[in-house]
Amino acid sequence: MVFSLSRKELINYTINVLRTYNIRPRKRLSQNFVIDPRLIRTILSRVRKCKPKRILEIGGGIGTLTFYLSDIAEEVITIEVDKKLIKVLENEVALRKGNVKVVYGDILKAYKKLGSFDVIVSNIPYHISSKILFILTEIKFKEALLTFQKEFADRLLAKPNEPDYGRLTVMANLYFDIEYLGTYSPSSFYPPPKVYSTLIDLRRKRIDVNIPIDFFQDIVRELFTLKNRKLKSAIRNIRFVKNLDNVKFLELIHELEKYVNRRVRTLSIGELIEIASTMHRYYKEV
Ligand code: SAH
Repeated sequence: MVFSLSRKELINYTINVLRTYNIRPRKRLSQNFVIDPRLIRTILSRVRKCKPKRILEIGGGIGTLTFYLSDIAEEVITIEVDKKLIKVLENEVALRKGNVKVVYGDILKAYKKLGSFDVIVSNIPYHISSKILFILTEIKFKEALLTFQKEFADRLLAKPNEPDYGRLTVMANLYFDIEYLGTYSPSSFYPPPKVYSTLIDLRRKRIDVNIPIDFFQDIVRELFTLKNRKLKSAIRNIRFVKNLDNVKFLELIHELEKYVNRRVRTLSIGELIEIASTMHRYYKEV
């Protein structure tokens, strides 16, 4: 196992483990193992600040991060979907660290059974980024440190009117406070992925929406399919609005007067919440 945090040791550990266990990293499972001490240190220093008791790691890989996380928390649960890597996690980490529990399974199926956590850490399997983000709205946790493909993180971090601003931005920021912690080149991982990665911090926030979330989500989805249009035109595309009689429709437009000439893509989350709340009153009348 690695003890000091140097790039050379991290590379040696990775190559040795892959050779010893006869493992060929599988692209299909986004298997790119971290070998960058700066990335690991940044993650660890944030995790340490949380003084966590229980940590969940999604996609333990060959246990590089797991090993260091176990020094910080009382318990680390690491879930991994690849049987071959389970053996590595058991032998190289769990045998040495009594507080590491290795779970063989698919996070997309197992998440409901895992309980609650102080911190979640994942060098996210890129092919399931949005699914994991959705799952995180259903798991109880305080803070998450996640490495996403840069392009995906850009969408989470976008501001209104920026090209990456969209439905994903709005929904993610409804649930979480999102903080940017740095972008890392492919050489931070072995084998190097084809893309850059961005580390972000997510914190659960209280959702201050006074209408059903599903309704809000539907409105945001339907509006953002026409995100370059003005609100007054995009709004006609919403299903229930089509069923409003003309008088009600004009009333609704009148109530939304402040916003109707704005392009959908310029509307902030707060404004979208206000718009959706107004619409919800009309929705109930259809
Ligand atoms: N955390 C490690 C590994 C990152 S690679 C590190 O930073 O080095 C991503 C890992 O997620 C791989 O080991 C892959 O097998 C695993 N993985 C992919 N899909 C998964 C899923 N649905 N559930 C759990 N683990 C998954």
